[in-house]
Amino acid sequence: MSRALQIYNTLSRKKEIFEPLKAPNVGMYVCGPTVYGDAHLGHARPAITFDIVFRYLMHIDYKVRYVRNITDVGHLENDADEGEDKIAKKARLEQLEPMEVVKFYTDRYHQNMDQLNVLHPSIEPTASGHIIEQIEFIKSILENGYAYESQGSVYFDVDKYGLDYNYGKLSGRKTEDLLENTRKLSGQDQKKNSFDFALWKKSDSKHIMHWPSPWSKGYPAWHLECSAMGTKYLGDKIDIHGGGMDLLFPHHESEIAQSNASRGHDPVKYWMHNNMITIDGQKMGKSLNNFITLDEFFTGNHESLEKAYSPMTIRFFILQAHYRSTLDFSNEALQAAEKGMKKLLGVAEIIEKLQPSKSTSINVEGFHNKLYDAINDDFNTPIAIAHLFDLSKIINQVNDGKATLTKSDIEKIKKLYSSFVYDILGLKNDSSVSTDDSLVSDLMETILTLRKNAKDNKDWATADKIRDELAKLNISVKDTKDGADWSID
Ligand code: ZN
Repeated sequence: MSRALQIYNTLSRKKEIFEPLKAPNVGMYVCGPTVYGDAHLGHARPAITFDIVFRYLMHIDYKVRYVRNITDVGHLENDADEGEDKIAKKARLEQLEPMEVVKFYTDRYHQNMDQLNVLHPSIEPTASGHIIEQIEFIKSILENGYAYESQGSVYFDVDKYGLDYNYGKLSGRKTEDLLENTRKLSGQDQKKNSFDFALWKKSDSKHIMHWPSPWSKGYPAWHLECSAMGTKYLGDKIDIHGGGMDLLFPHHESEIAQSNASRGHDPVKYWMHNNMITIDGQKMGKSLNNFITLDEFFTGNHESLEKAYSPMTIRFFILQAHYRSTLDFSNEALQAAEKGMKKLLGVAEIIEKLQPSKSTSINVEGFHNKLYDAINDDFNTPIAIAHLFDLSKIINQVNDGKATLTKSDIEKIKKLYSSFVYDILGLKNDSSVSTDDSLVSDLMETILTLRKNAKDNKDWATADKIRDELAKLNISVKDTKDGADWSID
């Protein structure tokens, strides 16, 4: 028998046996993206980390309601209470409606997530679609005396809260430290203390997205949306709340405070945080100018990339590290991941051809237990992958006649392999053709020459037919000044 699932709880700072509040139902909330730019590797990690959690919980027969939000209003530039709204700023620069920015980047985010084979969440609420819920949440905090109104904005009273609860229990930060760390920013004079955080912000004349409220025409602050939407869809207590470690403070710390202030108890049983991706040891981020978007990875179109990396290579690369470890990006690491993944996925064909014997010389049950133990140990995907490589060695041995499996054990191995590789780790065969395959390149050149000849002869029907047939194979052809370019979608 394999062990029970254990999850490292950031709040208790230890691994705990997973016991959902209302089994077999599980509520999971993960902070989603603020949609004002293309998704990068730093977005892929939480998406894939919690995709594994979602997939595995369903695999072991829980009914999971997975909520991942879209932040489309209220996330200010400096992640605190000052600066311009990230989406409003993008809209101003691009002369678009904020909701055009939101739609554009939400669509692109979804496309990237599909490419990475990340399952869709059960509910994907937006902050702007839940203004009423957020206003109600603020009202309850005000009624309980843990917030105050100041010049049309509402702030959370961290000092007052600290008399009854512990602000800092998740991140381990103390309010004295916060005081030192808080820079003097404009608008701070509206607050009793610089570490108080906004619940509602009165909009200034420049702000384009605002709604009426009892306090002012304004907009809800970022931390609040997750409290309001999490409570609406998953109830007052959520089983699992996840996100990147960069959200631990102030975002998640403030979510805990908001729920205690509104409901009188903690909002979450298990807090889970994935670690960051680094590039040459430095945190990846726009400010460091070292971030690479997912599209750039998939096309190889970035100066730091030696080649294009398929979505599955990115996924496998991320899963090769435990989600609580940092993961350092390099071309070598990605190329190693690509090779490893191809090897692992290549075994699927061998399994299909295995010939049964009268007896089994392999400990099939042992593999089964080792694989489940790895995932049950706080989703240890690198260990599970190591066991899968061992399993593929055995499969090759059976294929070479150096080990034996009975018919029923072949079936067990097949099921184990497909459960872990496809269902739990969420890997799949990328498009069978690849842009760096030289045969494909040569064939494409021939096909495009034929198309050019057709066009030169004004045979538009043939030229279009070639383009349309290629499109069916997910190959898009773009006409250029000197001929045509092609790419695999
Ligand atoms: Zn959040």
